[in-house]
Amino acid sequence: MKITEKLFEAYLKCPLKCFLLSANEPMTPGLYAAWVRGQNDSYRNCQANRLAAEVLPNECIISPQRIEDVRGARWRLAINVTIREKNLQSNIHAVRKIPPMGRGRRRQFIPVRLIVRNKLTRDDKLLLAFDAHVLSEHLGRPIARGPLVHGDNGTTVSVNIAILLKTVRQVTSRIAKVLSTDSPPDLVLNRHCVECEFQPTCNRKAKEKDDLSLMSGILEKERKNLNKKGIFTVTHLSYMFRPRRKSKRSSDKGDRFTLTWRESPTGISIT
Ligand code: SF4
Repeated sequence: MKITEKLFEAYLKCPLKCFLLSANEPMTPGLYAAWVRGQNDSYRNCQANRLAAEVLPNECIISPQRIEDVRGARWRLAINVTIREKNLQSNIHAVRKIPPMGRGRRRQFIPVRLIVRNKLTRDDKLLLAFDAHVLSEHLGRPIARGPLVHGDNGTTVSVNIAILLKTVRQVTSRIAKVLSTDSPPDLVLNRHCVECEFQPTCNRKAKEKDDLSLMSGILEKERKNLNKKGIFTVTHLSYMFRPRRKSKRSSDKGDRFTLTWRESPTGISIT
């Protein structure tokens, strides 16, 4: 099975999501997940049109069928390019062609990624690095840097691809392992769940299991430590609860907050 940019992105958020996507499990996106997807799609279209307007009409090609067309044609910007190489595939938002910078130099192909968020995350950069990895494997030439266009103002950030390639290779080999097995990774609810298309199913299963990840305040490290002690459910955890012992001094003082009822001629007041 090919490792696509969608599986790569899903794995960065949650290994289980990557497995469910690869298995073509039915999605039931909630309202928020559908809204996020709509925002991403409309931003991508809008910024792609803006990039296309920066070059002459005959210098821009849209959705080329084969990269060979992309290599040979006289263009400067290709939008919505799908590249396949070995077990990798990426739908790249846009590819810029830079003419050779001198005699004997080769022209460069640079992937561009369009991100709706104003604040970039490491995952955004890794996704651009994945695009660059697939493109460079296909072209047989390295890609050192690539731009991320993001946010309300269409700001461009140049990302150093070279330093992210090691992580991209590690993640793709982990994805290959996930895809090669029939058993799904552990279900662990996380911050991405609110915008995940599998949220209703995962939530139901987590409640059935009474899973520890239902408690959003528990960090992954704490959860693993609890698992090592044999605690896997919220009920197990609740048995560990012991009310804090009161010191002798504080028990003499009584509770910190007390309600006192006072009867007065005008009625009852609380102090
Ligand atoms: S809902 Fe959460 S746990 Fe389930 S696949 Fe999506 S991100 Fe992973």
